[in-house]
Amino acid sequence: MYLNLIFLGAPGAGKGTQAKLLSEKLGIPTISSGEILRDNICRRTRLGLEAQDFVERGELVPDDLVVSMITSVLRLPAYQQNGALLDGFPRSIEQAKALTLALKTVLNQEIYRVFYIKVGKGELAQRLSGRSICPVCNTTYHDTKNPPLVTQRCNKEGATLYRRSDDTYATTLNRLQVYFNHIIPLVDYYDRKGLLEIINGEQSVEKVNSEIYQKLGEMARTPQLSLA
Ligand SMILES: [Zn+2]
Repeated sequence: MYLNLIFLGAPGAGKGTQAKLLSEKLGIPTISSGEILRDNICRRTRLGLEAQDFVERGELVPDDLVVSMITSVLRLPAYQQNGALLDGFPRSIEQAKALTLALKTVLNQEIYRVFYIKVGKGELAQRLSGRSICPVCNTTYHDTKNPPLVTQRCNKEGATLYRRSDDTYATTLNRLQVYFNHIIPLVDYYDRKGLLEIINGEQSVEKVNSEIYQKLGEMARTPQLSLA
């Protein structure tokens, strides 16, 4: 059977990490809208070239373009078989509606559950402002929560880590406010549809993951659903 799950959460909430962990456990592929966008731009696809214009102007890529890219991935056999774990998409109610429609018309599938990984703004700002990133493999480290073994060096290949210039506490708080203004209506939207599960994201990665897994297990025991 297929299982389409959406992971919502602010930057730094750990939704990408959770989607990856669950993907390994369940054998269901993840879809990250950021990765798909970068991939389309790299491969210079028609959609990628269109999107690049917006990215270069520093504008948001329009909903219909993003939805077209996601839909083209959903058509691949691997996704049709098992469904997908969506990370970073949808970002607006318009995208959410387009996703539901695309799933229905292209694949005759539905969204099974939406997990909102909830983390407070203060905690998020702290996580993001202590962050450094490896320029080679994109691994993220944190000064106190997840420091590298050698100061400022990636554990994998030893590259010198860098900080995003806008990762200071104050600018991070501002960025988060913009994000919350968008995400809260979307969370409410899925709540009204009866699809929402709120997970406390202010716990260890392992604890968050086991709660998600447990919720899925509980749902699977209800008569009309099975997690085969
Ligand atoms: Zn690295």
